[in-house]
Amino acid sequence: MVIDSMGPHAATGQVLVNCSVFDGTGDSSLSDQAIWIRSDGTVALVGDRQDVMDAAGANPEPTTVVDLAGGYVMPGLINMHVHLGLALPGAMSASLDRDNPAALALQMAGNARRTLLAGVTTARLVGETDYTDFTLRRAIRAGTVPGPRLFTAGHALCCTGGHGHDSDGLEADGADGFRRATREQLRAGADLIKVCVSGGLAGEHEAIETPQLTDDELSAVVTTAHDWRRTVTAHAGPADVIERVLALGVDGIEHGYQLTPEVAAEMARRGTWYVPTITVSRCREFFEEHQVPAWMMERALGAGPRHWESLQHAITAGVRIVLGSDMPPDAPFDGTTATVREMEFMAEAGMTPGDVLRAATSRAAEWLGVSGQIGTLTPGAVGDLLVLDADPAADVSALRTMHAVVQGGRAVRDDRGHWAKGRTA
Ligand SMILES: [Zn+2]
Repeated sequence: MVIDSMGPHAATGQVLVNCSVFDGTGDSSLSDQAIWIRSDGTVALVGDRQDVMDAAGANPEPTTVVDLAGGYVMPGLINMHVHLGLALPGAMSASLDRDNPAALALQMAGNARRTLLAGVTTARLVGETDYTDFTLRRAIRAGTVPGPRLFTAGHALCCTGGHGHDSDGLEADGADGFRRATREQLRAGADLIKVCVSGGLAGEHEAIETPQLTDDELSAVVTTAHDWRRTVTAHAGPADVIERVLALGVDGIEHGYQLTPEVAAEMARRGTWYVPTITVSRCREFFEEHQVPAWMMERALGAGPRHWESLQHAITAGVRIVLGSDMPPDAPFDGTTATVREMEFMAEAGMTPGDVLRAATSRAAEWLGVSGQIGTLTPGAVGDLLVLDADPAADVSALRTMHAVVQGGRAVRDDRGHWAKGRTA
């Protein structure tokens, strides 16, 4: 897959100077660095200031110098579990008119913009309504509305009455039904397929433990998606269901509320991806603010201790873990955003800062099949980056000090006016 350019570009190339850089791959940041970004928005060179200035100066393209005042630069975040049209049971659902396509599109566009400004330059959508996500993906690519680069699943697939059937789920039954539902998402342009194989937190009539697909139904999804070279990720809670769907060939597990050491080891052995979305079982204030019903509050927060153990089992086993918030990426949480708080939780559960940063950048790009194009600050990658006041490779809470967001070489957020003060070299 080739990453698109994002709307119009800067008229000149630019050299970002006076910064330290975490490039998305290693364990530490390098100090006294400079980054040359060409006018097409791609990274040309990262290295010592003089080397970079010399290389940019030898190029005929005019170049603007942007002084980052000692800031720390890292790749833009990739949030792998997002619903831009999220409407949890309760006040969120009551306020969103899902039967009004314009209202849904506007809500999703607003959420996309806030997601980008929160530092999420790429989002993987794992369940949206009425194919609005594909229209939004086109609008963002064209530069019509601001938002993260989108990789999207279209509708999540579920059985009749299954998880998500009353929100973003498309109901199907039987192998033929699931094959068709999968093909409908591919026809619409799905980058991946999302399927709900067990109950979850937000379905009133189910439990987390409820198995929801038969083997032949899931096999139909996996075979069809793989034939079309797409990955399949499964919303899944209990260990026995996860063990079963691993054997049927799913590529990733979302939430995994009840992993055991044995199932985590099997995921590691198979190279299965894991998006823990650990915030969803610990965000009481968010649920209170949005007045979710008592049954959901109880189930979500009640799942918390076991969910935390799951994450720790996955870390211990060496499972390939990536960042995903499920909550709106920009939602306020403990004085920061849900995305940054998710990264802090990952560190608290035992991942090193380097592990967490890679889970939010280069590792996520690997799953998306776009390694080297996003998620790293290396030559040829697009210029998606954040500027912070502190070193994220020392402590991921440094992301709380984010003050600039650049996408495709364009500063979409510039709290300190670094770009406004840029001068022509
Ligand atoms: Zn979700």
